[in-house]
Amino acid sequence: MITGGRGVRTTVRVAAACTAAALVLTACAGERVEGELQTEGDVAGLPVTHFESGLKENAPEPDLRAQGITDEDVDQLALASAADTTDYWDEVKPQDFDEPFEHVEELLSYNPETDSIDVCGANTSQLGMNAFYCPLNDMVAWDRGVLMPLLNDKFGPMAVTAVISHEYGHAVQTRLGEKAGIDDSTSTIVKEQQADCFMGAHMRWIAEGNSDYFELSTSDGLNEVLGALFMIRDPAGTDFTHDGAHGSGFDRTYAVQLGFEEGAARCADIDQAEAEERITEVPFRNAADRATQGEAPINMTTMGYVQRSLDAAFSGAGVEPPKLVEGDGTCNSGVSTPPVSFCEDANEVNMDMATLQEIGQPADLQADAPVRSRRTRGWAISRRSRRSRPGTCRASRRASVPRRQAPRRVCGRRAWWVRGPTTPTVRTGRGSTSPPVIWTRRSPS
Ligand SMILES: [Zn+2]
Repeated sequence: MITGGRGVRTTVRVAAACTAAALVLTACAGERVEGELQTEGDVAGLPVTHFESGLKENAPEPDLRAQGITDEDVDQLALASAADTTDYWDEVKPQDFDEPFEHVEELLSYNPETDSIDVCGANTSQLGMNAFYCPLNDMVAWDRGVLMPLLNDKFGPMAVTAVISHEYGHAVQTRLGEKAGIDDSTSTIVKEQQADCFMGAHMRWIAEGNSDYFELSTSDGLNEVLGALFMIRDPAGTDFTHDGAHGSGFDRTYAVQLGFEEGAARCADIDQAEAEERITEVPFRNAADRATQGEAPINMTTMGYVQRSLDAAFSGAGVEPPKLVEGDGTCNSGVSTPPVSFCEDANEVNMDMATLQEIGQPADLQADAPVRSRRTRGWAISRRSRRSRPGTCRASRRASVPRRQAPRRVCGRRAWWVRGPTTPTVRTGRGSTSPPVIWTRRSPS
């Protein structure tokens, strides 16, 4: 079984979180409260915030030009993402690397279904589902026809920003050269891990409120980012030592979290030795592996291994490890967070196995599912957004949620270590838990 992510370094007490959220919701129903809805706990030292992430209502017009750019929302979102990433590196590169950020020379928006542009040794008609950095031209390019709408529809606008930021990460590592340990012999996986990590550092900068263009919540907003990275993982069975490997979903989200936690300077330290120590992506070892695509069955036998691992982790901690039990996923008393609940009184983790099996289906099987109608969360919409302004209670609309549902919704929105890197499916935004369309054939470069 593959394990990944950053473990459980941040502890969020669920009961306390629900209580805090409920109090805020109560306040929201009758009066304005200052600040944003937050739940207790933290995400790598930042408050757990809840609001719709994306372009700010008062975001400036990007002072950038891109070849092929259109007025489409998703294209303008990508352009704003490029401008924001530029702002980030203008600020951070001198601080962390003692040198200014030379801006990326060219930007290109293309539609692989209609355009035929020779670029970087290829033709855009062959570059569907992609975004890339081309060192030859010092160019960041994105596919506005397929990939960007898919990311925006499935995960939300921050997924678009994350991919653009990743490509800028390649531009930065190219500029850093030996400061990031980059030369002609550097493996793809190291470059990709660095780029994902740089993007994570950028996301933190946004989440901390430094961006003129975007705002990012540390709950659903980060889910969008992690979900997108999980989607654009390599196909199962890829060998990370091979040229072109980008990492498994666990590897990619790990790198994002590393950057989010420790900043851009740490990202530049990722090297081959580190990759070989922690990258989880391994090739299939035999036909049985290949037949199951490396997926472990979701049943109590597998959970037995999890129990053994838990017991080992708790040994010497001076407390009893919780017991994994099959049930309806709720607790007889205390807080329930189905389909899996930690029941404090019984010291049990109660699991609804049928639901876990359902949501644990390899999302790739959904590859042919129709893309849902496009979510209009782009540029134009954000400017006439119905969102409340900063300083007012952003949770007021949630006050209308039936009371019995409200705590569950809030409790279920902590993404980071809880849902992000460790779950086989990803949250697709707006509370949906339906599996995303998965693209496994190629990763953005
Ligand atoms: Zn890349």
